[in-house]
Amino acid sequence: AACTAKAEWLAQTRSMMGTEIRVELWAENAERGSAAQQAVFDEVHRLDLMMNPMNPDSELSRINREAAQEPVVTTPEIVEVVQRALYYSDLSGGAFDITFASAGRLYDYRGHVKPSADALVQAAEKIDYHHLRLDPEAGSIAFDQPGMAIDLGGIAKGYAVDRGIAILRAAGITSAVVAAGGDSRVLGNLGDRPRVIGIRHPRKDGEYAALIPLQDTAISTSGDYERYFEEDGVRYHHIINPRTGGSAGGVQSASVIAPHGIDSDAMSTTVFVLGVEKGLAFINARPGVEAIIVDSEGRLHYSDGLLQE
Ligand code: ADP
Ligand code: MG
Ligand code: MG
Repeated sequence: AACTAKAEWLAQTRSMMGTEIRVELWAENAERGSAAQQAVFDEVHRLDLMMNPMNPDSELSRINREAAQEPVVTTPEIVEVVQRALYYSDLSGGAFDITFASAGRLYDYRGHVKPSADALVQAAEKIDYHHLRLDPEAGSIAFDQPGMAIDLGGIAKGYAVDRGIAILRAAGITSAVVAAGGDSRVLGNLGDRPRVIGIRHPRKDGEYAALIPLQDTAISTSGDYERYFEEDGVRYHHIINPRTGGSAGGVQSASVIAPHGIDSDAMSTTVFVLGVEKGLAFINARPGVEAIIVDSEGRLHYSDGLLQE
């Protein structure tokens, strides 16, 4: 770095959490800006090691192995995310449920593997967040039946994005975007105008279904095109209906705008599972939260707050 006091727009992408993590920021001081950017990547890496259900050495895998025997005292980060997940489970009547994993872990979307009908019925019986016991004071998690498992894939990326923005703010950054795949959070704006975030078209690669100006908010998109395979005309994808253990039907994508990423992430998955009608009712009952849904025919549906603008 020749001139350390130079102001600069920094943008960098790294592969983590099974997706692309992107940190963009305006730095009055390029050296300090790039240190803050690195601190965000370090934090996301730490959370990935902690919460990755595929890594046998992760804290989350330890919970999945041990929590049916006895309460597992775990990290404050997992306690916080699980507590928020349970909040959305209650609010959505179980559409959002991190215990979907007993069935979810039987799929391998890359390998085109799905469970047999029998295995799926058995695994789906183990899905029910009421059997997940979280003790926030003790910082512990227990499963009150064997065969259960949890997966934070529907909420952890939004949480990671929030942590990233907190790190940047503490470093004095006032204009930034942190994105983890389909979960983004915007800090400030771009010069004198809000930043425009595109919602990917669920069926046309490289095209947008909608463009929305955003400032100091988070947006998450859940789509049936991220991880899927097709067999006999059926699309098997990674968002699971907790009642059946099968892929949730009815929509192609659900995007939710909310102040925090942990909430937009959980709600995008929730709205995807609820479908157009129940999903919009869920969002319209929540002030300060908006949604854009692309239904199975490719039609767009907007929450009330977006229609009024
Ligand atoms: P993305 O992975 O693109 O961010 P989502 O935020 O919707 O999309 O997350 C999808 C992930 O959520 C799945 O890969 C899985 O880990 C998890 N998941 C799937 N179904 C559910 C569900 N019903 N409740 C909670 N989490 C779910
Ligand atoms: Mg989500
Ligand atoms: Mg997400």
